[in-house]
Amino acid sequence: MEKDFSLRELNTFGFDVKAKYFQELKTPDDVRLLLENNIFRQCFDGDRVLILSGGSNVLFRNDVYDGFVVYPNFKGVETIEDTGNQKIIRCFGGEVWKDFVDFTVAEKLYGLENLSDIPGKVGAAPVQNIGAYGAEVKDVIYQVHTIDLTSGKTKVFTNEECKFSYRSSVFKELKVKRGELRERGFYPLIFAVDFVLKKNGELKLDYGNIRNNLISKNITNPTIQDIADSVKEIRKEKLPEVGVVGSAGSFFQNAIISMDKYLKLKALYPEMPSYPVNGQEVKVPTGWLIDKAGWKGYRENHVGVWDKQALVLVHYGSGKPLEIIELMEKIQHSVKEKFGIGISPEVNIIC
Ligand SMILES: Cc1cc2nc3c(=O)[nH]c(=O)nc-3n(C[C@H](O)[C@H](O)[C@H](O)COP(=O)(O)OP(=O)(O)OC[C@H]3O[C@@H](n4cnc5c(N)ncnc54)[C@H](O)[C@@H]3O)c2cc1C
Repeated sequence: MEKDFSLRELNTFGFDVKAKYFQELKTPDDVRLLLENNIFRQCFDGDRVLILSGGSNVLFRNDVYDGFVVYPNFKGVETIEDTGNQKIIRCFGGEVWKDFVDFTVAEKLYGLENLSDIPGKVGAAPVQNIGAYGAEVKDVIYQVHTIDLTSGKTKVFTNEECKFSYRSSVFKELKVKRGELRERGFYPLIFAVDFVLKKNGELKLDYGNIRNNLISKNITNPTIQDIADSVKEIRKEKLPEVGVVGSAGSFFQNAIISMDKYLKLKALYPEMPSYPVNGQEVKVPTGWLIDKAGWKGYRENHVGVWDKQALVLVHYGSGKPLEIIELMEKIQHSVKEKFGIGISPEVNIIC
């Protein structure tokens, strides 16, 4: 166990936050020892434990996390089942997500190519049901292996038990709302994920600029590798590079509004993009709302709004987490004033 451990390398915002206690877990034995550790138990009972993987979806609110950071770093990739047209691949949670995707693409296994180059680790992917370019990880997750930090017992969650939805799952609920698992005294740490991937699948080209990117390269009959390459190129153009400019990707969730509200806004802003959710609700890209409210490219001291994608808040270095929090609040206020829409962070804000 480390004390006063700097998390600068473990949060992609790049803030120099210190964890009062920090423990890396590499083997099941490490988990057993952790659960016997009195300091861990005290922090756990006081709700001062944070599971941290790549730190690409967290914002620490303060300069010190006054609690216990658990850093799962289990490694390994193995084929569990190989039948006819599909393979079930188990990937341990400490593997880097984009390396795992590259591996599946090189193996010509379909399902993860549109999720290329998302930062973070495999163990965190189910938590917010990561998604990009028309794909969501829930569509290829077979099951999720967890260890309960309360009892040390293992539990496998089937896809259905994960209760996946847009940027959410039972694991995220647990953290955000002290949800049902916590109430039942269950605190799952994800140590491995099983993916079911097809040997022959359909490619998803109709989202974002994938098709245009392929046309610009004269690719008429794309392979899975072509899709992965296009997604990587498009992402590079739009998003800040991890390790160069601090961010956590999309800072806010897209807004889901009632049909009534949508129709009123559409009359005022005919160009407003939207996607139907169901008969009563419509999804509006929050990036568009923030851009329209005049924030794109805005900079204040060490933080700002990314000039190529207004959904991304950035830290240019030497700043404090509170600067991002203040900027977030100003943007929320401004979007509420202009459109009457409340926008919520997608990033996990850690107090
Ligand atoms: C430049 C950039 C682009 C991004 N683009 C996308 C995108 O296109 N789509 C998308 O969905 N996301 C995107 N993200 C967000 C982020 O990459 C994903 O949410 C990613 O899955 C987070 O992984 P992580 O390992 O960094 O998790 P962390 O940030 O370390 O943790 C995220 C949450 O998961 C919990 N957690 C982490 N590991 C475990 C575990 N093993 N067991 C239980 N709980 C755990 C943490 O407690 C925390 O609540 C982007 C981020 C950046 C910086």
